[in-house]
Amino acid sequence: MKKIKRLIIPLFIVLSILVINSCNNDEAIIIPSSTADNSNDSNSEDTSNQEQGNDGEITLYKIDNDNISKIKDYKVTGEDLEYQKDIVKHNQIWDLVKKIVPLNQRKKMGEFLIYNGTTSGSAGFVVQLKKDLSSWKMGIAINYAFQGSFNAGGQLAYTIIHEFGHVLTLNDTQLDASITTENCKNYFPGEGCAKEDSYINELHANYWKDIWTEYEVAKKDQESQQKFYEKHKDRFVTQYASTNPPEDIAEVFATFITKKEKPAGNTIAEKKILLMYKRNELIEFKNHIRKNLQLRGRGNSLAFELPEPGKWKQANTIGNPYKTKCRHR
Ligand SMILES: [Zn+2]
Repeated sequence: MKKIKRLIIPLFIVLSILVINSCNNDEAIIIPSSTADNSNDSNSEDTSNQEQGNDGEITLYKIDNDNISKIKDYKVTGEDLEYQKDIVKHNQIWDLVKKIVPLNQRKKMGEFLIYNGTTSGSAGFVVQLKKDLSSWKMGIAINYAFQGSFNAGGQLAYTIIHEFGHVLTLNDTQLDASITTENCKNYFPGEGCAKEDSYINELHANYWKDIWTEYEVAKKDQESQQKFYEKHKDRFVTQYASTNPPEDIAEVFATFITKKEKPAGNTIAEKKILLMYKRNELIEFKNHIRKNLQLRGRGNSLAFELPEPGKWKQANTIGNPYKTKCRHR
């Protein structure tokens, strides 16, 4: 117990400094309950019962509205052990997730994973925790989150917005996981059947259906996929968006959020963004995210801007067309 008390005091000082540094932010910073445990001292812990993680897994948290609490530390060594001990960094990432994902949408997120993206070559991912798609896990690669400096060039913020775009468009309000592909009358992304009025079904019906046969052939190899993109370039906000409809909608959502002005609708890519402007709740998310991210004033060491649309690191690549949720860097 004394050990815990000794740890709480320095942690409180560090967190107080963080709170002062981000004083332009009017969102209350709540200290996650995980900061009060003794995982800073994991060297002296008995690690024999720890589970070996896959694909760079470091620490898993449970999400409870604004707070995260540790579920487990995976058995790690070397650089990953350093990342595991650095709870301040975990909280810094979580703080940014909180700014981006509105509270009512965070209810769809059950777990938050800190991992090292080197093995999988990814900066972030989401995966469903429940078959009915009502709960999701979001993973953020700590090594990329702090590459250069925290959220350098707004890349981390972009990744979180993109990943949030997946949760937003693939959760149980959007898809019905009980309907199989044979019985699905609408678009079927893999996790379930898209509901008639869902965001992804609207996108697919309007802007994918007419090129679907062509896409099905093109997705068989990388070269054909590249040609498919070149041919239909004006349909996509980034090359990555041409991977498949779930990646397309995540990219359209991220472009909708990061681009301040409403587009004219001259291209199909712009028309896709305009679909988002038709939904009042999405405009609210846009305003919420932009307001939260721009609160940090100029000259503040934590200030950042969002990447220009298309300047996202992975914008000019193609992902795996058979995977509906990205694992990209
Ligand atoms: Zn993705």
